[in-house]
Amino acid sequence: MVETTIRAGVIGRPIAHSRSPLIHRTWLDAYRIDGRYDAHDISPADLPAFFAAMRRGEMAGCNVTIPHKETVAGLLDRLTETAATIGAVNTVWREGERLIGDNTDAYGFAANLDEYAPGWDRRAERAVVLGAGGAALAIVHALIGRGFGAIDIANRTPERAAMLADRFGKPCRAVALDDPDLYRNADLLVNTTSLTMGETDGDRQWPGLEQLADDAAVTDIVYTPLKTSLLSAAERHGFRTVDGLGMLLHQAVPGFERWFGVRPAVTQVLRAKIVADLDSHG
Ligand code: NAP
Repeated sequence: MVETTIRAGVIGRPIAHSRSPLIHRTWLDAYRIDGRYDAHDISPADLPAFFAAMRRGEMAGCNVTIPHKETVAGLLDRLTETAATIGAVNTVWREGERLIGDNTDAYGFAANLDEYAPGWDRRAERAVVLGAGGAALAIVHALIGRGFGAIDIANRTPERAAMLADRFGKPCRAVALDDPDLYRNADLLVNTTSLTMGETDGDRQWPGLEQLADDAAVTDIVYTPLKTSLLSAAERHGFRTVDGLGMLLHQAVPGFERWFGVRPAVTQVLRAKIVADLDSHG
């Protein structure tokens, strides 16, 4: 009997915490697609065999998470320009026997702001990015794509901010975290550090936030908790705030469309389902 079920999944180690199965299974149910999406705990040594099976047609593709995002590139046949620029892959699909790697985090980041802070990139004069890790790479790429004139990157380890700024060149610049003018007149503030992850009291102070441009948007890509201390502080100052969950949901859209042939919608029902899961498992 010919197998008709389309298979996809996510690879990583550890993988139990991944919300990707819940997101994709919710869409598979909603669109009544004969498909499966499974979590695979895969070690670096197992990657070649995994992708060989995908090349043979056993799977339509997969998401890639820690610790494989940077290393899988060498096992694929082509990277999209976005994945090559960011230097990390989070989505793989098959074209014939060829495997293509993409990075959809930049797309997910921008789509989340488009949804919850429409017009966030209208003025696009200055953005401040806190952090210089893997996620910051994707976000800087997205901000360049939306035409920001100045992108200032501040990081606890200043050398990493300098490396990130050098990598992209103009309009990026490394700035000091304790610069008293860090936030002055910025149209967008993005936290990409894990500083706010796991916060329980949410009363961390963010001095200088009031210097942001009047109609600035503030977003934190951390989504546990949903309302981080940065978002609480920004809300108190009257700025528009966007939490990080939408980025996670939107980055999943292009992969699902590639594998299962339907462009899925990021709905409030999906969001509520993931929020409930975060509430019950943390
Ligand atoms: P990463 O590569 O490990 O980078 C971590 C960043 O956080 C670095 O800039 C690091 O600074 C900074 N940092 C860590 N602890 C800090 C502290 N106590 N004080 C100040 N800075 C600190 O991690 P990543 O992949 O970029 O991910 C960062 C966060 O974004 C994680 O919480 C992750 O869950 C979240 N994320 C969310 C999404 C989404 O879809 N919403 C997607 C990707 C990531 P140093 O360079 O000084 O160490």
